[in-house]
Amino acid sequence: MRFDVISLFPELFSAVRDHGVTGRAHKQGLWSLRVWNPRDFTHDVHRTVDDRPYGGGPGMVMMAQPLEEAVQAAQADRAAWVNRVAQQDCGTETDRAGRAAYTAQPSGGGAPVWLMSPTGRRFDQRMAQELSEGQGVVLICGRYEGVDQRFIERCVTHEVSMGDFVLSGGEIPALAIMDSAVRLLPGALNDRESAQQDSFHDTLTGLLDSPHYTRPEVYQGESVPAELLSGHHANIALWRRRQSLALTQARRPDLIEAARKAGRLSKADEVFLASLKP
Ligand code: SAH
Repeated sequence: MRFDVISLFPELFSAVRDHGVTGRAHKQGLWSLRVWNPRDFTHDVHRTVDDRPYGGGPGMVMMAQPLEEAVQAAQADRAAWVNRVAQQDCGTETDRAGRAAYTAQPSGGGAPVWLMSPTGRRFDQRMAQELSEGQGVVLICGRYEGVDQRFIERCVTHEVSMGDFVLSGGEIPALAIMDSAVRLLPGALNDRESAQQDSFHDTLTGLLDSPHYTRPEVYQGESVPAELLSGHHANIALWRRRQSLALTQARRPDLIEAARKAGRLSKADEVFLASLKP
């Protein structure tokens, strides 16, 4: 898997490339990252990447041309990368999966191009899962008031939002998107860090995760729930399931409804939910 990021702040991306789970996966060669600065694709002495908005109003708008040339450079470099990977018979499982997904791209003209934007589709775990099964995408990080609409129409295949709030740039959304996909790559998490028990994961049928405890057994007078100390696997699983159900019912009833509609709640789940106080 490979990500190409277009950003005026390339140095921010060491956060995901060099640290923690995603840093380890990068060292293992499970994914790669190339960051392109639109400023390197300007043709004037001031290396201008933004200008005032037509129609007036506050702030600046990112110009189309440096962004478009950066995307073209990224796509050309990706195409060379895909060919290189294809020529290597000894490609890893991930590389082969990546190639398959790449050739399946409907656009034909290269990888999908995702613009980070509050007006886009809200990113979620399902999108992270799909992303982790593909070859990666080109991520565009806006700044200022946003980017020239003509760039969006010419080059962007998807607009993706982090949520209903406004950040000062697309870098943090891009970091979050890469992190969420990379940690799902086979081999990125070890068993002890498994994504299986995370919130929204299929094994939890899309519910929220249950609470976690570690040593000491008593902290400031508060004990770990007895079920977790019992060593009885079925009881522990039941306790966790019930905690997930109760928490999700309280905080995200929409997820309970979605799980119910998808036929993912058992009879026992429903009996337990019905027993909860409204
Ligand atoms: N004027 C825009 C916001 C611009 S914020 C609007 O009101 O919709 C500057 C840049 O930050 C955007 O171009 C985008 O790339 C990024 N950004 C801000 N909030 C975001 C969010 N919730 N999700 C994804 N990207 C976001």
